[in-house]
Amino acid sequence: MTCRPAALPTTSGVDHVPTPPNHAVHVRAGDRSVARAVANDELRLRYQPIVRIQDRAVMAVEALVRWQHPTLGLLTPDRFFDAATRNGHMPLLDRWVLHRACRDMIAIRGALGCAAPVRVNVNISAPTLATDFTGLVTTALERTGLPARRLRLELCEGADLDTLTRAGPHLESLTRRGIGVALDDMGAGSTDLRYLSRLALHDIKIDKQFVAGMLSSQRDHAIVTLLTDLAHRLRLRVAAEGVETAEQLAALARIGVSYAQGYHLAPPLVLSDLTDTLGATGT
Ligand code: C2E
Ligand code: CA
Ligand code: CA
Repeated sequence: MTCRPAALPTTSGVDHVPTPPNHAVHVRAGDRSVARAVANDELRLRYQPIVRIQDRAVMAVEALVRWQHPTLGLLTPDRFFDAATRNGHMPLLDRWVLHRACRDMIAIRGALGCAAPVRVNVNISAPTLATDFTGLVTTALERTGLPARRLRLELCEGADLDTLTRAGPHLESLTRRGIGVALDDMGAGSTDLRYLSRLALHDIKIDKQFVAGMLSSQRDHAIVTLLTDLAHRLRLRVAAEGVETAEQLAALARIGVSYAQGYHLAPPLVLSDLTDTLGATGT
């Protein structure tokens, strides 16, 4: 039997940006805190497929956190990460996400078997990167039983070079165990090339601002091409995020980008919608 992740149907995405929620209200540092949200089980995860462009196979899913706030409704990270960072709660949030994402990945594999995505990508915030986070990650794997090769950490390029450099040895010890590492938002931060030579990386994710501009701006197109060539020379895999149209997907394929993520392919999904979608199309 061939073991192959399920492919997305061609109708799975939407060729427009979903209407954003009302962003007027932000959680402030002194408000009801993320620590209480964790204690009260108010955090939720969505999973957005990361697709191999050539055959639309869902090779991975990225875990994206939401807060089901008792009075403000479902909040996206832009509405509570500032307060969580100021309150020092990001490592707590990252720990919760790691555990839940590993547990959910076991459930996805249980439901879909061979048709399941190969791995789950989890974002690690800069405050967590500044700590010794190896225990945080290995405990999540040990407690849930998820094999290390099924987890990939996404590091925000916005973290400063000092933090990323000091995180280097911790990342190396995790990659030795089989955990993958991706550099997120490539091109959006200072794009310090020292990241690429110093860190034990497997993938880069090209920031969505360049994907958004690549069909109208020759410069953005050139940056996507340059980042892709650079990554391939370094034997890193390249994913593009924020893919909102078929035209962008085709242009990325022409450049040689292998993986894509964005509303055109699929929005972030609740777990049951993800397994239903992939279960319906899997082999
Ligand atoms: P990110 O890691 O770059 O995640 C991608 C963001 O782009 C997500 O926003 C996703 O919903 C959105 N997105 C997906 N497809 C498209 C598209 O086609 N067009 C556009 N314009 N946007 C798209 P979200 O979920 O609001 O997350 C925002 C940021 O918050 C993430 O950016 C990441 O840096 C952070 N974040 C999200 N979840 C977590 C988490 O569990 N832990 C940590 N530490 N950070 C997280
Ligand atoms: Ca990410
Ligand atoms: Ca990103």
